[in-house]
Amino acid sequence: VAKEKGKNNYQLYNPELNGAVSRKLEIENGLRKAINNNELQLVYQPKMDLKTREVIGMEALLRWNNPDIGFVSPAEFIPIAEETGQIIPIGKWVLREACEQNKKWQEEGLPKVCISVNVSVRQFQHSGFVSYVKRVLEETELDPQYLELEITESVIQNIEESTEVLKQLRALGISTSIDDFGTGYSSLHVLKELPIDTLKIDKSFIDDITELEEDSMVKSIIDLSLNLKLSVVAEGIEYEKQASLLTDFRCSYGQGYYFSKPLAASDFEKYLQQQSA
Ligand code: C2E
Ligand code: MG
Ligand code: MG
Ligand code: MG
Repeated sequence: VAKEKGKNNYQLYNPELNGAVSRKLEIENGLRKAINNNELQLVYQPKMDLKTREVIGMEALLRWNNPDIGFVSPAEFIPIAEETGQIIPIGKWVLREACEQNKKWQEEGLPKVCISVNVSVRQFQHSGFVSYVKRVLEETELDPQYLELEITESVIQNIEESTEVLKQLRALGISTSIDDFGTGYSSLHVLKELPIDTLKIDKSFIDDITELEEDSMVKSIIDLSLNLKLSVVAEGIEYEKQASLLTDFRCSYGQGYYFSKPLAASDFEKYLQQQSA
């Protein structure tokens, strides 16, 4: 017994494990106050028409800078927020902020473009989700055609329930896309039945530039989208060669550092203004 206890104690004080646990706790606790302390911010990455090279939209991406912890990547804190349920208030904040900002730009006379907002599994499955989206659209007075929600394949665990939610979102007049497409397990059958508008090809498929050949995964996903009458966006474009090959493959839209990194609101505004000038 003593030996076992010793073992457990050893594990408890394993510095590496302890470090990971305390960082997670730090993030958990920090996130609770992030909204009230004004630590959250959205940045905006332009979405381009690959043929005309014009901005046709933007994706809102969340940033969190805590005075004690510093900058934390959404790839690290979003899963923790999912686990603790903090994603519900945080997701609400993101949606409202994104809609308000887009409306503001439209009122300032900038070209009207669609804003894409990432929605995580727990948010999408939350019972009040659709009515919250409806309320935000009403309160911000953003025309629903300028809002798109990005969900991942993992959201579609329960096909019937998610189809119902997607139908309700479509009835509100907004569009939906499947983010990081190709990394999950969507069957063709499910994809054909789901009321969605767009597939976003995951960056990992775009990275293999040398393999952007006739028989590549990218080409297959683009052909699939065209067959299903879905629009298609490539994410993570870093080189001109990728952009031009994707255009050859009839991929309509793209995002990536090659065009622009995600920008603070004021910089995105300038980017959009330059475009329309
Ligand atoms: P995502 O939705 O797939 O977003 C794309 C990510 O790739 C973003 O990282 C973006 O900055 C990055 N990216 C875009 N172009 C390039 C490129 O050319 N090269 C490289 N290396 N990266 C590129 P970010 O902002 O760190 O976000 C990571 C993930 O965190 C997002 O992936 C999304 O899943 C999640 N996330 C971000 N904001 C939110 C949010 O407001 N709500 C939710 N639920 N999730 C969010
Ligand atoms: Mg996304
Ligand atoms: Mg993505
Ligand atoms: Mg991704």
